Amino acid sequence: MARTSRDAIAEIKAKLSMVDLARRYLELRPMGNRLVAPCPFHNEKTPSFTCSSEKGLYYCFGCQAAGDIFDFYGRMNGMDFRESLEALAEETGVELPRFQKADGFAPKQVSHKQEMMKMHEIAAHHFRKNLQQSEIAGKYVAERQIAEEVLERFGIGFSTDSWQALADIFKRSGFNLDVAVECGLLLKSKNGRYYDRFRNRLMFPIRDVNGRTIAFGGRVIPALDDGESAKYLNTNGTPIYKKSQQLFGLDLARRSVTAQKSIMITEGYMDVLTLYQFGYTNAVACLGTSFPEEQVKRITELSKNVELLFDGDNPGREAAFKACGKLLVKGISCRVVLFPPSDDIDSLLKEKGKEVFENLRANSTEGLSFCIQTLKKRSPKDAVEWSREFLGQIEMPELFQPMATKLALGLGIDEAELRLGVVEQKKAQNTRINAQSGESAKPAVPKKKTADAEILTVATRYPHRLQTLQEMGADLILESPKAKVYWDKLLQYGEDEILPFLDESEKAFWVKCRSADAPPRNNEEGELLAIYHLIQAKQKKSYVQSMVAAVRESGEDAQKAYLRALYAQGRNN
Ligand SMILES: [Zn+2]
Repeated sequence: MARTSRDAIAEIKAKLSMVDLARRYLELRPMGNRLVAPCPFHNEKTPSFTCSSEKGLYYCFGCQAAGDIFDFYGRMNGMDFRESLEALAEETGVELPRFQKADGFAPKQVSHKQEMMKMHEIAAHHFRKNLQQSEIAGKYVAERQIAEEVLERFGIGFSTDSWQALADIFKRSGFNLDVAVECGLLLKSKNGRYYDRFRNRLMFPIRDVNGRTIAFGGRVIPALDDGESAKYLNTNGTPIYKKSQQLFGLDLARRSVTAQKSIMITEGYMDVLTLYQFGYTNAVACLGTSFPEEQVKRITELSKNVELLFDGDNPGREAAFKACGKLLVKGISCRVVLFPPSDDIDSLLKEKGKEVFENLRANSTEGLSFCIQTLKKRSPKDAVEWSREFLGQIEMPELFQPMATKLALGLGIDEAELRLGVVEQKKAQNTRINAQSGESAKPAVPKKKTADAEILTVATRYPHRLQTLQEMGADLILESPKAKVYWDKLLQYGEDEILPFLDESEKAFWVKCRSADAPPRNNEEGELLAIYHLIQAKQKKSYVQSMVAAVRESGEDAQKAYLRALYAQGRNN
């Protein structure tokens, strides 16, 4: 067991590398001697996010986001440091010391979100056991021909008709039941009774990319359907679950997506299960039909090749059309597979077999062609308007030309006119943006490095030489209050534990000084010597200034004597 939080942090870092963690979310590519990806924390076209396992750090050249695994995990999952530490400790099997008030980390015992995660884990286990024991639910999954292995992998369960089963478990385990209500597992009646939210349903755990259950989808089992319940009941937004950020099945599909460099996107939980059962392990389901920007971003971070598998009915076509538009402007190539009206993925694969499915895939439609097909059924005016807006959003200039040509040809409109429309639209947009911001963007002026920055750079690069720097008087010539605060933190915390205590700009500075891109740390003495000279120069300057001030206040004879001394001092140096 780790003795202190510091030991635990080191132990977790030894077990989970920065690169492995980042790979869960991003498609990292080698560029020179670095691994890069488009930054998940700001919108960009060229990748400026970089990370290194050796240093255990990440850094974005675009938005200066920076930190270690805890910081990255926290940002990706909306957790604070304490919560990330708890989550990664649990994942890597590192035990955290119980009382850590003294070593500076948040003294909360278990965070709110951690409690919600724990309750979801318990609920998933409870539902899973129910399914193994229930005759009716067992019969249903047998009829749907869901393989035992798939049920196990996805943790599929069953909620019985009991109003109290889960509520009782939480009560017995000493959980705060209001927290269970807040995270959507229980409901509270007007007279204050807590009861189970999910009943008589096949339960699909919705897990984050790290495999932790954060929500549930519940499907009514036909034999238990009272005719009044919705077919699906899902967890709504909670502190640990934001629907727009999650993709069902991503925790299991992630590796295949990276290996195959492509991702399948479907509409429902069952589709993902069926695909998995038939060996298509790179499938995920969007949780809803709107395909929000956050999901699009997550997908673009994982793969540049998307296959959309949607129902062939009108809502399915419309959803596919919207998804194509959103993906294509980001430079993602996508293909659309629509199922015949009488079939879905489940019935097709289970009743007609893999060959028919493969046939459909082979005849899939390229994304932009699919958009053109759809647009041709609309009025010419609508089609042109859509095209202009679409072209105006394209993020990569090299894609603009071929797409404009294809759209113009496909829709039978004049390409020059279409392009002109886009230019005019953009101009209007820019005028609006400029009018709103009140000024046009100024080019960034490179800042000259201040003495503060030079001292802190060396102090950050060589923390074991802080004492030497202090003896030189480095801390005494720091000018800005912010620099002094940062210096004190360097003194207080070791290099392995400092990150959680730094604010965003400090963290960016720290990581920049120590990232894989910083100059190699092979000239320690030389860098220290440079700081020594800097300090000397600064001290001399202030010495001369105070001399001059003193001379001004004194009599004429004294002034002459001082000036002579000053002159001599200058010659000797
Ligand atoms: Zn960034």
